[in-house]
Amino acid sequence: MSRVIAVANQKGGVGKTTTSVNLSACLAAQGRSVLLLDIDPQGNATSGIGQEKKNIKVCIYDALINELPLKNIIIKSVIKNLDLVPATIQLAGAEIELVPTMSREVRLRRVLEEVRDLYDYIIIDCPPSLGLLTINALTAADTVLVPIQCEYYALEGLSQLTNTVKLVQKHLNTELRYEGVVLTMFDSRTNLANQVADEVHNYFGNKVFKTVIPRNVRLSEAPSHGQPIIVYDERSKGAETYIELAKEVMANEQKAAG
Ligand code: ADP
Ligand code: MG
Repeated sequence: MSRVIAVANQKGGVGKTTTSVNLSACLAAQGRSVLLLDIDPQGNATSGIGQEKKNIKVCIYDALINELPLKNIIIKSVIKNLDLVPATIQLAGAEIELVPTMSREVRLRRVLEEVRDLYDYIIIDCPPSLGLLTINALTAADTVLVPIQCEYYALEGLSQLTNTVKLVQKHLNTELRYEGVVLTMFDSRTNLANQVADEVHNYFGNKVFKTVIPRNVRLSEAPSHGQPIIVYDERSKGAETYIELAKEVMANEQKAAG
């Protein structure tokens, strides 16, 4: 059975997509089979691993709303062991179309049942909201991974996120746990970044990953080439740290099993 990890934070621009794409690619490079699932209508994870949205005929929308089998939507990526379920702007409608449907919060969990034996990891890149798409991801997931950007207002809104996780644990998915919290775009030269890191540690304690993702220009350039960082610049600090993060995630799983 795969481990399903939802990468979530309702704030935009905190590193969800960068983390989803690069964690997926690094887990794949470590020999694990990975499915990257894009559920953000902006489709940044989809283009981030080199899929042109204009060429995509069916996306996760068709599985959630039209009950198209996921196997008909999965695309192989250029990276060995890494497959993608793409998202296009069509998915924007799902947030509203799901509202009156039966079992609207568990749609994604059911969709994923079909492939849970096929992958070691399923990584879900969530949209920047706590709407039904993110709720579906949290309901389908074993764990939630929260990227936090080391900037002003980093902790603002975090209680909303942790409350949503609590509500999902209570009503929809009692097994949901935290994979961890990862600090992103960290700049050790600034007092602010260090201050934010301290506050996040106070708030989340041992849930914070040891690996900290630095602010790294190569990480921000890679998506425009449609490449994960380990392909775009294997020697960059960004590549190095996302490989470390992948190793921590794999170690988490061994801890959970043992
Ligand atoms: P989200 O998915 O949470 O909206 P993104 O992953 O798209 O956030 O990141 C927002 C922007 O910041 C993007 O332009 C991305 O390339 C850039 N970015 C993300 N992480 C880093 C980093 N560690 N260093 C530099 N730029 C980054
Ligand atoms: Mg994103």
